[in-house]
Amino acid sequence: MSCIEQKSTPAPQGTKTQSDYNAFEAMQPRFPEKTPVDRRNGRNVKSNDIPPQGVYLPNNNILAPHMKSPEYVQLSTAAAITLGIMSGRMHGCECTRCLNLLLTYPEGCRANCAYCGLARHREADRDYADRNFIRVDWPAVPMSEIIDIVAKDPDKSPFHRMCISMITHPRSEDDTFTVLKQWTDRIDPDAIPVSILSNPTTMTRDDVQKTRDLGADIFTVALDAATPDVFDRTRGKGVQSPHKWSKYWEILQDARDIFGPQKFGAHIIVGMGETEYEVLNLVQELVDLGGHSHLFCFFPEQGSLMDHLPATPRDQWRRVQLARYLIDYRGVRVEQMTFDDLGRVKSYGIPESELSTIIDEGIAFRTSGCPGKFQDDISACDRPYGDSPPSDIASYPFQPKKKDLKKIRKQLDIPVRVE
Ligand code: SF4
Repeated sequence: MSCIEQKSTPAPQGTKTQSDYNAFEAMQPRFPEKTPVDRRNGRNVKSNDIPPQGVYLPNNNILAPHMKSPEYVQLSTAAAITLGIMSGRMHGCECTRCLNLLLTYPEGCRANCAYCGLARHREADRDYADRNFIRVDWPAVPMSEIIDIVAKDPDKSPFHRMCISMITHPRSEDDTFTVLKQWTDRIDPDAIPVSILSNPTTMTRDDVQKTRDLGADIFTVALDAATPDVFDRTRGKGVQSPHKWSKYWEILQDARDIFGPQKFGAHIIVGMGETEYEVLNLVQELVDLGGHSHLFCFFPEQGSLMDHLPATPRDQWRRVQLARYLIDYRGVRVEQMTFDDLGRVKSYGIPESELSTIIDEGIAFRTSGCPGKFQDDISACDRPYGDSPPSDIASYPFQPKKKDLKKIRKQLDIPVRVE
């Protein structure tokens, strides 16, 4: 998440503005290849058993040490820079407002989601701790070290929120509880609230309840795919991955019951083959349940089973971003909007002048996620450049400026208002 673009970033095909959309037929993932036996389940990391020594910066040229949660977690490059664990700068932002943590094990995530850099098939060529995820590296750090830094003065911390990302691993629930408890034992969750990005596949309703009892504030489900077909193809049987749409919805409903209105939500990746109409219907369904949606723009993550596919065209992305903001925060309903025969947004259901004002406010185009301390519709989780390069921003990790809004209007094909 630094402003220095990773050399490994694939040619950003499709990241240029183009009048198109990612149709279902065009977004077929590759089929995962067989992993050699000696690379399976983190075998080389476990058998070499190199003891970790403090912070580990991802490096595919050396063997990763034997690190595992709850003692170790990985954190985003942006969070590591903000904590002072790594040096670097981020284009347009001084820091991130969300401390994103990721559980870590030599075996890594046991799922195989096609768009994800952490997927199981990558064990063939990369140790888990060295894998890129949402375009950036994730250094591994002792959890106690992170807590020691933040606990010095939580009220003055740059972080408005902490988030624990679970992965698909047999220890994921227990270690999430431990990490959460370690945090809330030392840091008042009113000073820095905690979100859980869950892994429904291995969870029960009791597990959801336990995260609440231990002090979590918001519970989210990474649905990622907007329809059952896209889900099956990208994270279910289509890629030998264990996830099921129905199980994700079961845990989402549990989260609604346990955490209550405005305290649960779902992640959705836009541009993996669903129509704009389908994704916005899902956004509406989540609002009707009392929750929120957090959007990601599909980007072909290097090494993933979809790294050969185009990023979401900016016009498609901007229309969905704007319409989702109207549904989530401005009381507009999807039924008030109109769509063309390819499911693309034609009108947003509010008068042009009102729409123009909302576009110019710019918040609709910022990264969406769990709220921070500024206002409800500004996400703490800004994920700098997690879904695009800084040269062609999809989710703005900062308030878009005049020149950004000009570009956004062009992408939306909505000309600048003439007063
Ligand atoms: S479960 Fe999450 S971390 Fe694991 S492969 Fe799927 S998206 Fe990636």
